[in-house]
Amino acid sequence: MPHKKEVMVGVDLGGTSIKAIAVNGKNKILATEKKRTEAGVKPEALIKEIAGVVESVAKNAGCKMKALAAVSIGAPGAIDIRRGIVNEAPNLGWKNVPLSDALESLLGGVPVVVDNDVNVGVIGEHALGAGEQIKNLVGIFVGTGIGGGIISGGKLYQGSNGWAGEIGHTVLLVDGPVCSCGHRGCAEALASRTAIERDVRDAIKAGQKSLVLQIMKEKNKDRITSSVIQEALARKDRVVQEVMKRAEYYLGILVANAVNVLDPARVVIGGGIAERLGDDFVAPIRSTAYEYFLHPPAAKKIKIVPGALGDNAGALGAVVLARKRLDL
Ligand SMILES: [Zn+2]
Repeated sequence: MPHKKEVMVGVDLGGTSIKAIAVNGKNKILATEKKRTEAGVKPEALIKEIAGVVESVAKNAGCKMKALAAVSIGAPGAIDIRRGIVNEAPNLGWKNVPLSDALESLLGGVPVVVDNDVNVGVIGEHALGAGEQIKNLVGIFVGTGIGGGIISGGKLYQGSNGWAGEIGHTVLLVDGPVCSCGHRGCAEALASRTAIERDVRDAIKAGQKSLVLQIMKEKNKDRITSSVIQEALARKDRVVQEVMKRAEYYLGILVANAVNVLDPARVVIGGGIAERLGDDFVAPIRSTAYEYFLHPPAAKKIKIVPGALGDNAGALGAVVLARKRLDL
């Protein structure tokens, strides 16, 4: 009997990094690789870098390229799933990039599957993480932006045009700060890591005392990353405490809105900050959400939990999706 190809590579393509995992037939991680990417790199150059990361992670997993079953990528932005084209990815500066075809030819014909990064993150948590065995689930990923995904009846709910799940663009504060989408007061503009960074920097500019700039220097970071936020909270930085309290409050309202519309059994909060802070971040979100639940008994039934897969949710979800789609 011929040996079945089962090793697969999942890739989480972000605005600032390429993260890849190689998994065996049971989706157990054999090797991981992460590479930082420069902003403004041309699509062809970035696709070459992705190919390099895929080859390297497969090699580290002891798998030759021709023995690889498939590569599956979660990419930010609007994706033509059927043709593997990234229609529009503002974070990457991409428009109509045939990611699947380009990567397949660089990798010697290994099948390449592409889907939206948040969708694969939700699929990952649903299949292997905090949402395992849950039929109706909402995933909210707090990072550079706020992404969302809905699992309904055990399947990803994509809507009639594939546009469902944009929870981050729920307007929570009419006339609030401008969002990446151009509107004002979206959850993303109030509670994403980017919004948190903006508010902390504004407070410092306004003369409030904070350790953040010093912590950034110590950690050699030019942005207020999740690890900077974590350290500032550990040192009881008042500015960061206040800004986080506000972000968590808005996220609580966001969760309540999603629950009141969708009635899921579980809400999973993922992304870098949730991974770092765990339930310290999710507990205040939960208590605000409960206050805004339309049906108070929901507080006993609907669980609001941090993601369980952390940084691997997207790449793991991508391989789960590829196995389904390619019937492997
Ligand atoms: Zn928006």
